[in-house]
Amino acid sequence: PGGIEEIVSLFTVTPTDTPTPPAERAEKIARPRFGTVFSDHMARISWRREEGWIHRRVEKYGPLQLDPATAVLHYAQEIFEGMKAYAHADGSVWTFRPEENAARLARSAHRMALPALPVDDFVAACAALVRVDSEWVPTAEDSSLYLRPFMFASEAFLGVRPADEVEFLVIASPSGAYFAGGVKPVSIWVDSEYHRAGPGGTGSAKFGGNYAASLLPQSQAAAKGFDQVCFLDGATNTYLEELGGMNVFLVMDDGSVHTPELTGSILEGVTRSSILRLAADRGREVVERRIPLTEVVEGLASGRVTEAFACGTAAVVTPVGRLAGDTFDSTVGDGQPGELTMAIRAELTDIQYGRAADRHGWMRRL
Ligand code: PMP
Repeated sequence: PGGIEEIVSLFTVTPTDTPTPPAERAEKIARPRFGTVFSDHMARISWRREEGWIHRRVEKYGPLQLDPATAVLHYAQEIFEGMKAYAHADGSVWTFRPEENAARLARSAHRMALPALPVDDFVAACAALVRVDSEWVPTAEDSSLYLRPFMFASEAFLGVRPADEVEFLVIASPSGAYFAGGVKPVSIWVDSEYHRAGPGGTGSAKFGGNYAASLLPQSQAAAKGFDQVCFLDGATNTYLEELGGMNVFLVMDDGSVHTPELTGSILEGVTRSSILRLAADRGREVVERRIPLTEVVEGLASGRVTEAFACGTAAVVTPVGRLAGDTFDSTVGDGQPGELTMAIRAELTDIQYGRAADRHGWMRRL
C-alpha cells in the first residue's frame, strides 16, 4: 500500500554499466544451478548507530570490499532471510507473506544485537530490487526469483560488542523447480550426537552460525546415504526439532496433523505457519506439541504415523520416505509421497503462483 510505495521511492537507482545481454540472461534463467546465478542489481541500506537507516539504494550487483577487521568476519554477527518472487500468468510479480519474513528478520536482529529494520523498509527493498530486475523473474513452471535479504556487522573493529555500522542487502537468484522431474521423498537421519541449537541459544534466529553448525552433521549423514538431518532438542535429546533448513510435520491415522511446538530453539517457518492454517481450513485437527522421537518410531511401526513431510520456502513441501537413526530405520507409509502431503503442497503452490484464490490475503504484488 501507500507506505511501501513511499519508501520504494526513497531508493536511489544506479543502473549497472554492464547489464547482462538478454540472450545470456535467458540462458542463465533457463538453466540455473541454485544459488550460483544472480540478477544484475542488489538493494542496499546502511545503518549507523548515530543516524539509523540511511542511503536506500539499488546498485550494480558485485563484490563488497571489506576491511580484514570487519566484525562479521570475526564474530559472525549476521542474519538472513529467504523468500521467493513468483511470476503470475498475467506477468505480474508477487511475494508470499513478506511481512512475516520482515518480522522474523527483526526478531533475529534482536537476538544478534543488530538493529531492527522496519517491516516497510524490508518489503520496499525487495520491491525496489525486483522492479529493476523484473526481467530476471523466471516464468517456467515451479520456478521463481529467490530473494536473499541479509544483514551483517560491517564495522571494522575487533572489540567484542555490537557493531556501530551495519549493512542490509537484498540479492536475487533465479531458481528452477526444486524437484525437477517430480517430487521425490527424502531420507532423513535423526542425529543424536550434534544439536543445531540449545536452550537460550540462537536456534529461533535465522543466524548464519546455526547453518555453519549444521554442516558437519549434514555431511556425516550424507556419507551414510541420507538426504537431510533431523535434529533433536539440545536439552534432553528426546524431542524432534527440525531439519537444517526445514520444519517437520507428521500426519496421524486419525487425520490429525502434528508439528514440533516453538520452543525457542526452532526456526518459526513461514511455510510451517501457512500449512498449519491450510490444514485447519481442511477441518484437520492441528497440534503443536513436543514430539518424542520414540513415539515417532513406534508410530511408524504401528501405522499410527501415516505421513511425514518437511517444509520451507525452497522446496515448499518435501515428503519424507525414510527416517533412521542409531537404533532404528523406518519407512514412512509405503515410502511414497503421502496424500495430504501432496494436497497441501499443491494448495500452497497454487496460491503462490496465482492459480488459486488468495483467500488469506498472503500475496503481495511487487
Ligand atoms: N527451519 C530452518 C532452520 C530454516 O532455515 C528454514 C528456512 N528459512 C525453515 C525452517 C523454513 O522456514 P520458511 O518456511 O520460512 O522458509
